[in-house]
Amino acid sequence: MTLLLGPFKQALTLRGLNQAGALSDKDLEIIPDAGVEVADGRIQAVKPYKECSGKKQECGGVVLPGFVDAHSHLCYGGDRAGDYALKLQGKSYHEISKMGGGILKTVNDTLSEQDLKKLLEERLNKLSRYGITTCEVKSGYGLSVESELSLLKTIKDVKSSVDVIPTCLAAHTCPLNYTPEDYIEELIHNFPRFKKLVNRLDIFADKGGFEIALAKLYLAEGKKAGFALTLHADQFTRGGALLAAEMGAVSADHLEVSETEDFLALKAANVVPVMLPGACLGLGIPFPKARLALDLGLPLAIASDTNPGSSPMGNLIAEASLLGIYEKLSNAELFSGLTFRGARALQLSDRGRLVQGMKAHFAIFDCNDYREIFYYQGSLHAKTLSFK
Ligand SMILES: [Zn+2]
Repeated sequence: MTLLLGPFKQALTLRGLNQAGALSDKDLEIIPDAGVEVADGRIQAVKPYKECSGKKQECGGVVLPGFVDAHSHLCYGGDRAGDYALKLQGKSYHEISKMGGGILKTVNDTLSEQDLKKLLEERLNKLSRYGITTCEVKSGYGLSVESELSLLKTIKDVKSSVDVIPTCLAAHTCPLNYTPEDYIEELIHNFPRFKKLVNRLDIFADKGGFEIALAKLYLAEGKKAGFALTLHADQFTRGGALLAAEMGAVSADHLEVSETEDFLALKAANVVPVMLPGACLGLGIPFPKARLALDLGLPLAIASDTNPGSSPMGNLIAEASLLGIYEKLSNAELFSGLTFRGARALQLSDRGRLVQGMKAHFAIFDCNDYREIFYYQGSLHAKTLSFK
């Protein structure tokens, strides 16, 4: 049976926009007074409402493809409000870690949390207000083989209207009772067990995480084991982006300190750059060079990095809007970063545009014009519709 959604004031389809590089708003396809026909979980047509047919489901406002958040750490217990208070007093991320805050504090809070699945479900359900219909969720607050496996199982089994893409980030930071070399070796030894649960492998290849040489060994073994690779790269020190290019990773995420040479290496190796403005806002550090990356021809994705430490806000629309106003990104570039380019960072080619055959995942905003969405800098909330 075909469903007819609408009439929408506008449908912003993102049809025909280039997979990579700078984009102009004049290339946006905007269909006024639009209807969307849906059958079997897929989009059948997007066209003027009066030309549509199907069983009517009334919706209004502006419709876009559901947003893809390609980088999050939503599976955790506790919070780090105490860390944030120290940041406000001028302490650095690394100083706070040494004082007993940081990732290891969240690890303790996560392990003592009984009902992690419920917490994760609640967090996923809140994503609808930010238009998110697909969300990557990393492990990383277990930091032992058994607890990381358990977190990945929780992420995989969670029930939500959001499509969840799990990623193994067992190599988030080194646990206290290990040397980095021993911990990495133990993880590699257990790759077959991880591979049963997850296809994506991540490592924090930066200051506070793992050194580049060790990350390279880990990723090389991960590739042999059949994982798709992604990295936390160039957040504080350079080297991770070049490693991502060398290893043929799917994406390199963060890139706050990346320069032209790093971006060109990512482009040559077909690695998707994922920028995480929420982490810059959470740490009070400058945004990555998003304008430069786009002008160099890269397919910039924008994700939330939502986590209790460095990126607590969780409002992907506010984060993208602020990155946009500081880095001078067009609406076309911002929406692409949240949709089909985000999907590409997760190797998903079946979503991110309102065109025939794509998954029927929608972000719907109660406004008259798509330009209001970033204009209100995150205070205009969405609702989502996902058909399976
Ligand atoms: Zn992250």
